[in-house]
Amino acid sequence: MPQPILVSACLLGLSTRYDGQSKLNEKVLNYLRNHNLVPVPVCPEQLAGLPTPRPKTFFATGSGPEVLDDRGRVIREDQTVMNEVFIRGAKETLKVAHLAGCDRALFKDGSPSCGVHRICRAGSKVAGQGITTALLLRNGLQVFSEENL
Ligand code: SF4
Repeated sequence: MPQPILVSACLLGLSTRYDGQSKLNEKVLNYLRNHNLVPVPVCPEQLAGLPTPRPKTFFATGSGPEVLDDRGRVIREDQTVMNEVFIRGAKETLKVAHLAGCDRALFKDGSPSCGVHRICRAGSKVAGQGITTALLLRNGLQVFSEENL
């Protein structure tokens, strides 16, 4: 019986990225096929109500868990603090997971929302989780990235 899995929409070829592009990943498509998984595409930033294209966003301090706890900040290039918007996207994504019966997610690494092993903070790639990843993990979902395949 095929099982549902949340997947970052950009990895599936949907043009959801901040620059209006996708990140279609053949390894992801093969993994889904080989494991009899039905992808449920989600883009937390679009679910938050943000437009595409949209300004680039990165962490000024902390990472996903710290933003959820109001101890970190995610900002736009123009320095606007985006914590509230990104947390809204994370919560909407969690709702989709529950509606679709997903207990796992395959996410795009490096993103402020979907990062699993690394994020971008103040211009550098550093270890850390995105905001949606952190919320899903806190709610018992398994989250891995295309870099695990
Ligand atoms: S928020 Fe996630 S799904 Fe949306 S474009 Fe960024 S990495 Fe892809």
